[in-house]
Amino acid sequence: MKEDEFARNSKLVAIAQSLSEGDSTGKLLELIISEALSFANADAGSIYIRSDRETLHFECLVNRSLLLVRGGASGVPVGIPDIPLSGEVDGQELHFEAAAACRNDETRLVQEGMSDRQQVYSGAKFYADLIGYEIVSALSIPLSVSDSKVIGVLQVLNAVDGAGQFGPFAEDMIPWIESLASLAAVAIHNRQRLDSHVAKHEQVAHQVQRRTLELETVIDDLQTRNARLQEENKIDGLTSVNNRLAFEDAFKIEWRRAERQGYKLSLLMLDIDHFKEVNDTFGHLAGDQCLRIVSHLIKSAFNRSADFVARYGGEEFVVLLPYLELDSAILCAERLRAIIEAYVIEYTGSEIRLTASVGVSCVQPSSDTDATQLIKLADKALYSAKDAGRNCVRSIAVE
Ligand code: GH3
Ligand code: MG
Ligand code: MG
Repeated sequence: MKEDEFARNSKLVAIAQSLSEGDSTGKLLELIISEALSFANADAGSIYIRSDRETLHFECLVNRSLLLVRGGASGVPVGIPDIPLSGEVDGQELHFEAAAACRNDETRLVQEGMSDRQQVYSGAKFYADLIGYEIVSALSIPLSVSDSKVIGVLQVLNAVDGAGQFGPFAEDMIPWIESLASLAAVAIHNRQRLDSHVAKHEQVAHQVQRRTLELETVIDDLQTRNARLQEENKIDGLTSVNNRLAFEDAFKIEWRRAERQGYKLSLLMLDIDHFKEVNDTFGHLAGDQCLRIVSHLIKSAFNRSADFVARYGGEEFVVLLPYLELDSAILCAERLRAIIEAYVIEYTGSEIRLTASVGVSCVQPSSDTDATQLIKLADKALYSAKDAGRNCVRSIAVE
């Protein structure tokens, strides 16, 4: 008896080692059943796994007869519906035996007492068809893990052949096969955790990839939108000429280029005279229309590609003129002043006449010249024009 115990124990140790080596859940289950068959000297074995939805799912069956015939373990999938674990277990078939073992966390033995009805898988298929012999005994053992959670059921079956072999189970073997079931439960549980970890990992990786893609698309859209907004941001909404921000950017670039290439920069600063009166007399909308027309007149007067017209603010405009000497810039300013003076704006039956004062400056950019000087001088010249009675051009050159 002691020798028997020692042999069984050694076998359990060997089984425990081989169970930890299974490379897939399917292979692991087949291995468990094969070991159970030889341990219990049984004819066939099945494993059922408890699902998240509180049902017992038939996983596989290994037939010892097939094993002998085929010379290898074979999992046989059959169309058995999942068995609900909630409520009363309804039915006497073998898989309901398994469900009862799972629900009650108890080993159930039907010893040489299987009825015809019990040998049926929910009417789908006779066990006898699957294992080749008529079943006479069934042992259902819950697969429990440490916290007495039942994760499935191991079922071993004995059949009887024509010669009456494989009859009842040897009952003293039951505690040993229960030990085997404990090892099997831990191995399956570990494998399930590993599988779900891998699946989760893959899912997370997939999600990260998808979110990265979504993020890239959003960033792309944002960049396009930003570029457009920036573009829009540089255009004055009322007059559609460049705004002050655009002017400042262009001015910096133009200053550096003129400094590098050694050419002069001239600047016109124009302010509409008595514009407040225009608003007061004809209304703000008329004033708006005047601003549109004046900006159009300025743009038309300066159509070299290098010329840069911008609304500097309110009724004030600037024109940056690269390559132009002060004299030429003054001539341009005078021509513009005359155009504005001559232009008659028709607005809802009224005729509006405007004049403008213009300040002109010219600088040769260099590393020791203050870039803002050009603007400050033009502004100062504009004040001189206003002081001189308006509707005129004044200039300041850098000595
Ligand atoms: P000055 O000859 O000294 O330049 O007199 P002014 O009336 O033109 O100058 P002031 O600075 O007193 O007034 C500027 C006016 O320009 C007041 C303001 O309402 C008007 N203005 C500024 N921006 C706009 C605009 O976008 N639309 C309209 N309709 N008016 C504007
Ligand atoms: Mg002004
Ligand atoms: Mg003004």
